[in-house]
Amino acid sequence: MSLDLILMGPPGAGKGTQAARIASQRGLAHIATGDMLRAAVRDGTPLGREAKAIMARGDLVPDDLIIAMFRERLSAPDTEQGVLLDGFPRTSAQAEALDGMLDGLRRQIASVIVFEIDLEELVRRLSGRRVCRAAEHVYHLESRPPKVEGICDEDGSELYQRDDDREDVVRARYEKQWVSAAAPVLDYYSGRGLVQRIDASRPRDEVAGEVDGLINGLDAHA
Ligand code: ADP
Ligand code: AMP
Repeated sequence: MSLDLILMGPPGAGKGTQAARIASQRGLAHIATGDMLRAAVRDGTPLGREAKAIMARGDLVPDDLIIAMFRERLSAPDTEQGVLLDGFPRTSAQAEALDGMLDGLRRQIASVIVFEIDLEELVRRLSGRRVCRAAEHVYHLESRPPKVEGICDEDGSELYQRDDDREDVVRARYEKQWVSAAAPVLDYYSGRGLVQRIDASRPRDEVAGEVDGLINGLDAHA
């Protein structure tokens, strides 16, 4: 049986950090729509050309583009054991489309884990975030610096600061993408009893312990 999970939370809450670890430990496909969009921008594809300015402003990319991109990703064989969704779905239309796709595979979301954290901590995390050009490995200047300044420990590529991690865009993303857009998605899943909340403001290993506890609890009830 597959295990399909959603990690939700404002930008910078630590979803990607936990998702990368969990996906590799459990053999799940880590699907981060933000990473996929940045790759499209870098490669100059039609999707990337359309998304670039939208992302730089901190707005959401239109649902039809995201849903088509996600549908194609879900057709890859590495998703058969399950998926760990990071940054998708972000709107009700995306959540409904996801349900339709999973229904077609006779699968369903097992849990929506919500990362709770306040805005000032997000600003601290995102102003120090650095990611690598090759594979989006995630660092923090203070709490997780690379061994060699400016270079990814894992693949040697250059680290850079995302355009949308500047403080003004961080605040705009929080308002537009979390405070306004996420509520209907949370309601959608709350109504089905799937939402589990964690305190994401704690150190990485404590957050990891709590998330693992929730996922192990699902396994036990499966
Ligand atoms: P998201 O995927 O939710 O946008 P990231 O996983 O990229 O968030 O984390 C944002 C920044 O915060 C990164 O620089 C990351 O290294 C750092 N970070 C992640 N989890 C924690 C934590 N529990 N405590 C402190 N910093 C963290
Ligand atoms: P992230 O890496 O998750 O912070 O996403 C970076 C940016 O990509 C967001 O600010 C949005 O502009 C865009 N994006 C990522 N995922 C989605 C999505 N599911 N729906 C709409 N826009 C998205």
